[in-house]
Amino acid sequence: MGGTAVETLRELLRGEVLGPEDTGYDESRKIYNAMIDRRPAVIARCADSTDVRAAVRFARDTGMDLAVRGGGHSGGGLCLVDGSLMIDLSGMRWVRVDPAARTALVGGGSQLGDLDHEAHGHGLAVPAGVMSTTGVGGLTLGGGHGHLTRAYGLTVDSLLAADVVLADGSTVTASADEHPDLFWALRGGGGNFGVVTSFRFALHPVGDVGLGVTLWEPEHIGEVLRWYRDFLPAAAEDLNGFFAILRVAPGPPFPEEIHGRRMCGVVWCSTGATDEESLAKTFAPVAEPARPAFHFAMPVPYPAIQTMFDELIPKGLQWYWRGDFFDRITDGSIDVHRVFLENIPTALSTMHLYPVDGAAHRLGPMDTAWAYRDAVWSGVIAGISTEAADAERIRTWAVDYWEALHPHSMGGGYVNFLGADEGGERVRSTYRGHYDRLAEVKRTYDPDNVFHHNQNVVPAGG
Ligand code: FAD
Repeated sequence: MGGTAVETLRELLRGEVLGPEDTGYDESRKIYNAMIDRRPAVIARCADSTDVRAAVRFARDTGMDLAVRGGGHSGGGLCLVDGSLMIDLSGMRWVRVDPAARTALVGGGSQLGDLDHEAHGHGLAVPAGVMSTTGVGGLTLGGGHGHLTRAYGLTVDSLLAADVVLADGSTVTASADEHPDLFWALRGGGGNFGVVTSFRFALHPVGDVGLGVTLWEPEHIGEVLRWYRDFLPAAAEDLNGFFAILRVAPGPPFPEEIHGRRMCGVVWCSTGATDEESLAKTFAPVAEPARPAFHFAMPVPYPAIQTMFDELIPKGLQWYWRGDFFDRITDGSIDVHRVFLENIPTALSTMHLYPVDGAAHRLGPMDTAWAYRDAVWSGVIAGISTEAADAERIRTWAVDYWEALHPHSMGGGYVNFLGADEGGERVRSTYRGHYDRLAEVKRTYDPDNVFHHNQNVVPAGG
């Protein structure tokens, strides 16, 4: 089947089609998380939406299992499936900005860095994730949060329309006016409903931002978290700051004496204070909980903050992660963070609490498929290592940490922070009361569950 599929698809597609024998196949099946090593039967590197339609129809006609790859960043490797036809959208990385209308049209395989670069050229941005290599596709369809969330909301809150190739190979545009049920589902419901070949976003005025990093010694984690849980939600929406436990990266801007040390900290991004003087004022309170071991703040162009982690955590590392939403940081959860900060297993393993309040709270609970408008933080525990031999160690740390923290959570986690091995009940807890409505939309647009390599919503009645 694999060989025939390669030959037939080559005739149908403008983009490259790769089978296991072809040069480039092994490179094309590498995804961000090196823990995932699987072999699709054929990789269709689609050049445009016509290629995507042809590949979807081909999979339907032949009964081949279909997987869709955007940026390849999903933790569990949802886009990489043994024996499947992989629709690889990495040939569809393009961005067109309309500065007058303040909108961007973005190819379905684009990475955040593509969008940031093009929009920044016009002093504009879309709120999205914190790493430039993450796919716009998977991130947006799951909701999308990052440095601009408190100022401008989730990524889906800026989505105006999406062109979607459906399971029957037809194309529709989903927006507030066309297929509004599908448009609702796309804004948080993941890759369940079709292949998005382009996204249209509203852009926001963002030029330079104030980047800040504050680190405290591990023994201060209690005072710091108790201060942070009150300070940030009460702060102006133009200030964002995600809390982290980590080991300090061995390079600038950190002084050598703290390299590799366990610390807790906050990575700040201000769209209000963007010059040295106002940044000093904004960050004066960081000394309140305890004297920081390290603090720096400076104005940087927005793409600089978006690329600051790219070198530290490049493609090809081992990853295992788990997540949950939190509406408060309880004293009990602080005790859990203290314990797991003490036993971080590797130099890169970390835990982040991303704020999802501020502008993200302006939309109502039913407005999009994102089901946690009442959450204040989206937490992720990521075991990360350069060594394959650490796979079990980082997994155990992440799972133990998650199990200890889960009772302090809201019960469900961000769909983009779910592992591939967590099961259907976890997907239900991600969508809470929205699950049944998503299942109805799934029945309308993908009744046979052709798109099931995702955090799957089973079609209603299925
Ligand atoms: P892929 O693995 O290619 O795809 C993930 C899922 O989305 C698959 O089911 C795939 O089929 C589907 N999909 C992708 N593109 C399309 C498309 N165009 N049409 C239909 N389905 C599609 N998330 C945040 O919100 N904020 C962050 O700051 C953030 N930081 C991250 C940092 C790192 C280092 C990593 C690894 C992940 C981060 N994430 C973050 C999580 C990220 O949002 C998810 O991993 C997301 O799934 C990545 O999308 P992708 O397209 O790169 O992944």
